[in-house]
Amino acid sequence: MIDVMIFFKIYWVLRYNGAKFWRVDKDKREMALKITSKCINCDMCEPECPNEAISMGFDTYEIDPNKCTECVGYYDHSTCQRVCPIQNAIIADPNHIETQEQLLAKFELIKKKI
Ligand code: SF4
Ligand code: SF4
Repeated sequence: MIDVMIFFKIYWVLRYNGAKFWRVDKDKREMALKITSKCINCDMCEPECPNEAISMGFDTYEIDPNKCTECVGYYDHSTCQRVCPIQNAIIADPNHIETQEQLLAKFELIKKKI
């Protein structure tokens, strides 16, 4: 009887945690980044982008969402955010939500073109 209870306890713990992990993975989303009006055009980020996604726009630097992979394929962090001296000058762009797989596919595509 105790063995059956232990079995069910383990079963429910695994099932509950498995479902939770599955939900987290499925809901995990990445985004291309965008440069906000806080940018002071200091030039730090543009040469650091491995995808050549950053260029000078009308007023400030801009990120091409078609080229930004959040540095997936190159680094484990967004290098432009790391070098930018201004807080919140480079932020996630909620208009360009992508999965890790989509970012990797974009990286492969860009790699062929560069
Ligand atoms: S996150 Fe990476 S790929 Fe995207 S703009 Fe910044 S440096 Fe370029
Ligand atoms: S590093 Fe930051 S402040 Fe400098 S140009 Fe890039 S976004 Fe603008």
